[in-house]
Amino acid sequence: MSAEDVSLQVLGAAGGYPYCGHACSGFLLGTDGSAPLLVDCGPGVAAKLLAGGRACDLGAVVISHMHPDHILDLVSLGYALMTEWISLRTRKRIPLYLPQGGRAVFERLMALWGHKHWVFDNTEHGPGYAALRDVAAADRDWMFEVFEVDEFAPGDVFETAGFTVATIKADHTPEAVCLCFDKGGKRLGYTADTRYQAALIDFYKGCDLLIAEGHFSGSHPPGGAHMTPSEAGKLAEQSQVKRLLLTHIAAIEDGDAALKAARAAFAGPVELACHAAEIAL
Ligand SMILES: [Zn+2]
Repeated sequence: MSAEDVSLQVLGAAGGYPYCGHACSGFLLGTDGSAPLLVDCGPGVAAKLLAGGRACDLGAVVISHMHPDHILDLVSLGYALMTEWISLRTRKRIPLYLPQGGRAVFERLMALWGHKHWVFDNTEHGPGYAALRDVAAADRDWMFEVFEVDEFAPGDVFETAGFTVATIKADHTPEAVCLCFDKGGKRLGYTADTRYQAALIDFYKGCDLLIAEGHFSGSHPPGGAHMTPSEAGKLAEQSQVKRLLLTHIAAIEDGDAALKAARAAFAGPVELACHAAEIAL
């Protein structure tokens, strides 16, 4: 498989909540050799994803941290998978990689809907339906059957959906990580949510593309657990990445100011992720 075959589709890049028709964080990484990898799954992402394919066609899902604007559409995605298990008579489990402690958060959230108490009757609907019925009969939550949940710790490196995934501790929530995806020497960095930290410079050194957050844009004062667009640009410059996509800006009307600030700090090309089309790395 050649290095040029890596592609990125931005499904959503809004920060905090979906605004102006833009979904929250969700990035689809594709290769010719594997089913695509979904990175983060915020509100609005499932609608975008399922407009172009089926949930069971995913290779895996990787989540940066458990804030709602990065995970809430896992619920919709799980319901789509459960439905496809019945309608498509499949029982393909989708690997779901959560940061440390993420499984417990997801279990608490799913418990709200009482999936383990659902009753599937004995009607013959194929192997997927039968598997769901067996799970419910065993008093287990089918969400953890359609997803194959695994956890990773900051610093872990793992392989999934054709990518090598490197992680490093973010400065955001205790479990949050920044991520870097490598396929055949093509490297795509994604800061997810984090304050600026010098440790990211080497982590993203020479990346072909860096998706960096600039939440504290426009009239929002710098500080808190995020970067400014200027800091995103500084990180891109220090890491000597080839291209920068600004994501998770606070409001769409901040876009021009965010681009200007990032471009003042980074000599390479900068775009807003929410306006980016499919990108070949
Ligand atoms: Zn966050």
